[in-house]
Amino acid sequence: MTLRGRLTAAFLAVAFGPVLLGAVFVASTVAAVDRSRATERLAVAATAVRTSVDALCQQLRAAADAVAVTADHAGTAAQVVSRGLATAVLVTDATGRVSYTTPNPPPPPWRDCATPEPPGASVSALVVRVQLRDAAGSALGTVAAAQPVDPAFVARLAAVTGVAVTLLDGAMPVQVAHTTESGNGRDAVLAAAASLRDERVTGTIDGRYVRRAGPAAGQPLPLVLSVPSDQPPGLHAVLVGVVLLAALLGVAVAWRLARVTTRPLVELAVAADRVATGDLTVRVPVRSGDEIGRLAVAFNRMTRETGGYLAALTSSRDQLRGHLAVLGDTLASTHDLPRILRLILHSALAATGARAGAVLLTEQGEQLVARCSEGLDDRWPGTAPLRVPLGCGVVGAVAATGQPRRGRAEPTGSSSDEPPCRTYIAVPFAAPDVAGADAPGATPAAGRPAEVVLGVLALYDRLGGEEFDDDDLATLRTFARHAAVAVHNVRVHEEAQRLSLTDPLTGLWNYRYLRESLRREVERASRFGRMVSVLALDLDRFKTVNDTYGHAAGDTVLAEFARRIRGEIREVDLAFRRGGEEFVVLLPETDARGAATVAERLGSAVRDTPVTVVGHAGAREPIQVTVSIGIAVFPDHADTGPQVLAAADEALYAAKAATRDTWRLAMPRESSPTREVPVSVVAHSPADGLPRAGLDVPAGPDTPDTGDLPAGSDAVQHSGDPTAVAGTTGTGRTGPTGGASSGPHPPRHADGR
Ligand code: GH3
Ligand code: MG
Ligand code: MG
Repeated sequence: MTLRGRLTAAFLAVAFGPVLLGAVFVASTVAAVDRSRATERLAVAATAVRTSVDALCQQLRAAADAVAVTADHAGTAAQVVSRGLATAVLVTDATGRVSYTTPNPPPPPWRDCATPEPPGASVSALVVRVQLRDAAGSALGTVAAAQPVDPAFVARLAAVTGVAVTLLDGAMPVQVAHTTESGNGRDAVLAAAASLRDERVTGTIDGRYVRRAGPAAGQPLPLVLSVPSDQPPGLHAVLVGVVLLAALLGVAVAWRLARVTTRPLVELAVAADRVATGDLTVRVPVRSGDEIGRLAVAFNRMTRETGGYLAALTSSRDQLRGHLAVLGDTLASTHDLPRILRLILHSALAATGARAGAVLLTEQGEQLVARCSEGLDDRWPGTAPLRVPLGCGVVGAVAATGQPRRGRAEPTGSSSDEPPCRTYIAVPFAAPDVAGADAPGATPAAGRPAEVVLGVLALYDRLGGEEFDDDDLATLRTFARHAAVAVHNVRVHEEAQRLSLTDPLTGLWNYRYLRESLRREVERASRFGRMVSVLALDLDRFKTVNDTYGHAAGDTVLAEFARRIRGEIREVDLAFRRGGEEFVVLLPETDARGAATVAERLGSAVRDTPVTVVGHAGAREPIQVTVSIGIAVFPDHADTGPQVLAAADEALYAAKAATRDTWRLAMPRESSPTREVPVSVVAHSPADGLPRAGLDVPAGPDTPDTGDLPAGSDAVQHSGDPTAVAGTTGTGRTGPTGGASSGPHPPRHADGR
């Protein structure tokens, strides 16, 4: 049964029950009152009947007495009858023979007033008999005065008593002799008469009340008195009608009430079903302010807020997916460290709702430098990147200990090296320590490889002013792991790239990188109208060193030679080991004169200081080493990189063929005139340390001149006016293991590795 059905039944029982009970009460009360009144009326009527019959009997006795005391019975009898004291007078003699009778006496049987007839006897007249006696008292006969018991008599009784009177016939079954009842009333009274006892009142099926009134002493007639019910006609029908109407109304009202009560619940159930299928836009109408109305309001709020949460979650999930996709793509496909760091910082800011942040990387194991930042402009004015010494402030401590930190900044500020903030969170990102656990920041843990802190991810001022919580910390640690992997990968990639381009023994660039660099430098010089010098170097009689002191000693010489080369050239110059004991130096923006100066300097740097090696016997021995150098210049001696190198090789052979331990300039090309570069004659580097190369000026191709070539050189100068050539002196250090370089050079680690 549905809730609506149960509520309808309940409302019906509550509303209809009292109506039904009331109707029953009214009906029973009316019936009781009616019966009581009928009983009373019937009792009064019975008394009146008895009195009337008794009075009639006394009247008949008086009439009989009057006839008896007179001698003229006939005359007196006639008078009595004429005066209405009796209907008939009958005189009998002692033998019982009728001596006189008034005309038209009632037919027998007569009922004597003094003697009630036994049940079953019928009555046609009431009679009183008086004895006739003589003076001596002897019985002479009787005088009987009679009154017929006919419908008129019964009608008179009814008129006297005010109720309906029925005279029963004594025959069995009971029959009605005379009655004032009519039609149905007669049958009803007859039906009830059979069961009447004593003076009890009985109701008939048609709503009458009946009782007996005799035969009894003084009232010999078998009479039944009856009165109709005083109840208003149709009372029961009205009551039934009222009850039915109340029932109908009750059903209607109960159904309506149940509907009104259950309708919001049905709407809620339907809405809850739709929510269960994922529709959070559903709302239920609020129809009242009662409990169900409040439930509807709460439901609407619940769906609204759940919808809001879901939207936020979906958007956050989509954002996260987007970030993860970009992050994954970037990490997988790029070695662009700034881009990776920017992405990690943006993802971390979005994930934690921080206003500002920075990714700081360790440099030289001494300090943290911000390589990427966001929202720090107003906190960290100026162009210099944020720098924090290891161990100082929050981020410095995080980098030094490898432990993340979060919290609220002290009002005084934790460190002047860090941007001011209210709340902060900083996590380290660490990678396996490829260099060894001794590196600064390395955090060896039991059973795990040592890790080195590559940097710190720091975020500031969470939106909303709340502190960063443990969830933020967990999120950031995840990002930091990504960052660590990314930075580590980039560095590994850079290292691999560097190793693929460098010579492991000397640390100089290898032949592969030589070809690439030569092509690039020649192309650039060609595009911008500049010069590039190429030095081809070969150690003299190096085989002898190997043969004399062993291969290891030869390696030592090679490494030391490379070190000296790096010490003699500028930052922008490039030194290569071409193979064996042959080397190449590229001098961008340098003409023949500058190249000769460098060659001279290199020769003396090798020659002047013997290289100490450990010989076969284990003794440390100084070895005198010299080098021969061939010089070629673009565009003086060739138009392409390989040609310039070939020209330098030829010059080298010339140097070898001459005396060794010297340098030679390549032969000028015959096909194209030598282009001279007029520049100011200076033997030293200009103040900015940059090489100078001047405008092309016509010069005689065949005017070799040693001019101002460095002293001690016996080289043949092929490049025209030496006075127009400005040499350069190495002011920096370069090469894959040297100082910082820029431009087209392979990427280098920020910490200098
Ligand atoms: P020259 O003055 O004509 O150049 O004579 P050289 O002996 O230097 O020339 P050569 O080409 O005859 O000998 C080169 C030697 O360099 C041969 C080889 O033993 C040695 N060499 C080449 N690569 C290495 C190396 O990596 N380590 C060592 N120790 N020796 C090497
Ligand atoms: Mg050689
Ligand atoms: Mg050699």
